[in-house]
Amino acid sequence: QAKAGGRNTVRFFDPDMQAAVSARSELESDLRHGLQHGEFLLHYQPVVDSAGRLLGAEALVRWQHPRRGLVPPSEFIPLAEQTGLILPLGRWVLEAACRQLVVWAQSAVTRPFFLSVNVSVRQFRQPEFAEQVLGALQASGANPERLKLELTESLMATDVEEVIQRMEQLRERGVGFSLDDFGTGYSSLSYLKRLPLEQLKIDRGFVRDVLADANDAAIVRTILALAQSLDLQVVAEGVETTGQLEFLRRLGCPAFQGYLFGRPVPATVLERAFRPAP
Ligand code: C2E
Ligand code: MG
Ligand code: MG
Ligand code: MG
Repeated sequence: QAKAGGRNTVRFFDPDMQAAVSARSELESDLRHGLQHGEFLLHYQPVVDSAGRLLGAEALVRWQHPRRGLVPPSEFIPLAEQTGLILPLGRWVLEAACRQLVVWAQSAVTRPFFLSVNVSVRQFRQPEFAEQVLGALQASGANPERLKLELTESLMATDVEEVIQRMEQLRERGVGFSLDDFGTGYSSLSYLKRLPLEQLKIDRGFVRDVLADANDAAIVRTILALAQSLDLQVVAEGVETTGQLEFLRRLGCPAFQGYLFGRPVPATVLERAFRPAP
């Protein structure tokens, strides 16, 4: 019996562990297969101003799995990051988002509109990342001024000088940067000042209980003040109720994203929101 081993014995036949390992390797080979067979797609969630007008959207990847149906990113992004599959996947996301920007630029959408794309740390740290972004913009003909890349604070645990340099390289070409899930990481304020950022996104964890929890309200107030003094745009994420919206508005929050305004949806569904209300 494998289980009878001593302290330092590896228990090769632990059935739970084995099940987890084989589920993981199945998911990994499904991911590879899915990438080769075009099973990924983007949904888009609106970002609006305090009058509810559309400012832009965030592209959020989904996986149309042949057996499991539509799989959310929480179920495959972590594994994609561990296995490195995030590199080809992230590249596909960038290219698809740029193509969508062009479709929207050529349709009746005339007002300035940004599209945000999430970029994982591993993806950003590739030496050829800037070239990849510029290549996707060029190949599609998308306007770099309309593209925003969402980074997370975990990036600052890496070589910050390199991060700044890479951001500046893209910034010079017009690409904007947003710091996602702001407040959940450990970014030093001195770095924050040095990064060529355009936008902060207040993590939805602070928005959720902003009405009931004085600490969360204080954090939101602080982030808004910080954004103002650093001259950054700010978006509150995860706004689900009119109560939250009213409260955030009173604190001076200028832009919002959340189920209250719209869930992530296919491009054609989001397009209906482009048309001004009658
Ligand atoms: P995120 O970038 O912070 O995206 C916002 C997430 O919050 C989305 O989840 C969105 O559907 C969800 N959300 C928006 N409004 C609300 C709300 O009012 N209430 C609640 N409860 N949730 C709301 P989603 O699409 O499941 O994505 C989860 C995370 O997966 C994203 O968080 C992002 O970190 C990652 N992700 C998504 N797409 C990509 C991608 O293309 N590349 C990379 N590297 N990561 C991605
Ligand atoms: Mg995001
Ligand atoms: Mg976020
Ligand atoms: Mg997140």
